[in-house]
Amino acid sequence: MMKESVARFWREIPQRYNIIGNKCTVCGRVFFPPRESCPYCRRKSLGKMQKIQLSGKGKIVTYTIIHSATEDFEDQVPYPIAIVELDEGPRITAQIVDCKPEDVKIDMRVESTFRKIRQDGSTGAIYYGYKFRPMR
Ligand code: ZN
Repeated sequence: MMKESVARFWREIPQRYNIIGNKCTVCGRVFFPPRESCPYCRRKSLGKMQKIQLSGKGKIVTYTIIHSATEDFEDQVPYPIAIVELDEGPRITAQIVDCKPEDVKIDMRVESTFRKIRQDGSTGAIYYGYKFRPMR
């Protein structure tokens, strides 16, 4: 039972790692998270949304440094949270890792990376998700 759920978790990782958005085939706008229909084309776009894998690359539009956090995150402060505009267009809010908070700059190129988000103190469960790091 235990073995099965662990295997299943690892099988699901590729989907979690890839940032999947979708694209309106009418106007070409890209969305993340995926949307049912394009808000720009309204009805015209129904059934014309196409899943696409995003590159995970983009640039920082704006950011803020978090100095105090809830218990789950307090070992990480201070840390930068940024709005990242992906090359395909959508904007994502995410933590910036692998650099000092003072090195984070607007327009800095970043790429997504799959990281531990937090560990549940009582159960020890580890949650993963995407964060962004400076592109090298
Ligand atoms: Zn559209």
